[in-house]
Amino acid sequence: MTKSKVYYANTDELTMGDSLIDRFEHLWKSVGLNDWIKKGEIIAIKTHFGARNQTRHLRPMYIRKAVDLVRQAGGTPWVCEGVGIGWEWHNPELAMSIGPGFVYLANRHGISTGTMNAPVVMDDGIMGTEVFHVHNEKGKYIQNVAMALGLRAADKVLILSRFKGHDGAGFGGALKQLGIGCVGNEGKGGAHFGGGQNIYVKSPDNCSGCGDCVRICPYACLSLDENGKIVHNPEKCIACIMCFDKCHHGKDMEKERVFALRRRVPSVEQVERMMDNAGGVVKGIGKERLRYFNIAIDITSHCDCMSAGGNLLVPDQGILYSEDPIAIDQASVDLVTKARGLPMSPAETGINSPSGRIEPNERALEAENQKLGLYSRFVDPESRPIIAETQLAAAYSQGIGSREYDLILVPSPQQKKKE
Ligand code: SF4
Ligand code: SF4
Repeated sequence: MTKSKVYYANTDELTMGDSLIDRFEHLWKSVGLNDWIKKGEIIAIKTHFGARNQTRHLRPMYIRKAVDLVRQAGGTPWVCEGVGIGWEWHNPELAMSIGPGFVYLANRHGISTGTMNAPVVMDDGIMGTEVFHVHNEKGKYIQNVAMALGLRAADKVLILSRFKGHDGAGFGGALKQLGIGCVGNEGKGGAHFGGGQNIYVKSPDNCSGCGDCVRICPYACLSLDENGKIVHNPEKCIACIMCFDKCHHGKDMEKERVFALRRRVPSVEQVERMMDNAGGVVKGIGKERLRYFNIAIDITSHCDCMSAGGNLLVPDQGILYSEDPIAIDQASVDLVTKARGLPMSPAETGINSPSGRIEPNERALEAENQKLGLYSRFVDPESRPIIAETQLAAAYSQGIGSREYDLILVPSPQQKKKE
């Protein structure tokens, strides 16, 4: 396996004039990003805006700094995000699943055209349907990858992630951005729910015939029959689950639900599906037009997509940069695994999950212990210890990078003076 380079600005002895933002700029210049960006090129900065009431999403200052640096290099920055699958239509001003709502939510999180000095846009449209299909012959489950069309409109894409745990995938960094963040709702539904064939009308008798879901379905898969009951046509369904949310609000989800999933996709398969998408996105954009930063601060077990922050698993690790999405995530996983766990983290307190309580694990507070995945609440209990490894291995099978890396510390000028 060839080794990739991962460059790294650490958090040791941060001080005035040598903050993590200063080190971000120094890292940017040291790795030659100013040469990668050509004058006038559109640089999409793909980040995560954070779910409603999320307090650990990527701090806006890092995004703004990236915007400033793109401008200094002569590029034209766009700050981009993709629409989420159909939660919270009942709260349309603050929903990840509606483009205008997500932009408005970003605004509340400090990410606006005014604060960023750049357009803040959805890269897959108002309902996550503006996609470009890429054939991925290496896809285990998904071969027709629906990448966000807006990313094709940019000349280059900079993936800017907060590196953290993830409730469904063990960890979230560059790979998860590619496999979920950079695909439209078709890709998200395919990864999470196994596609439209998996959606069905479970209880037509619970349908009042209001027609709300019929109007919202972006692919016209729903209609009312002569009795005013809902009929689902799975042919064009992408499993965006907007119909679920439109119908569920205010109802007892168990007793009154109309729609349901035919099967629950196991956690390992979900992650493999995500990495099928990641392979397609890298192919659709082009390796040379992609670069990655993992901002390994505020490292929780929850992702930015959860309406919860959570206590930190380990201390801040710093900022990593690479041209290789697997190497940067592997290096980030290794840093977190080697770090000492923090008091009040889930390792000390335990955490509730839908499958029962995940008990504290004192060993995870020690250095050199597995932490990512153990507190992934939606991962099948038996898959928690292997889910991070599964993500990395599935990405590797896509041929989009290497798991071997050299971690190269890039000391700031102040750090160099002290050497
Ligand atoms: S399934 Fe739900 S939203 Fe759709 S028509 Fe019936 S009651 Fe209304
Ligand atoms: S039927 Fe439901 S899940 Fe399928 S595309 Fe329409 S809104 Fe989305």
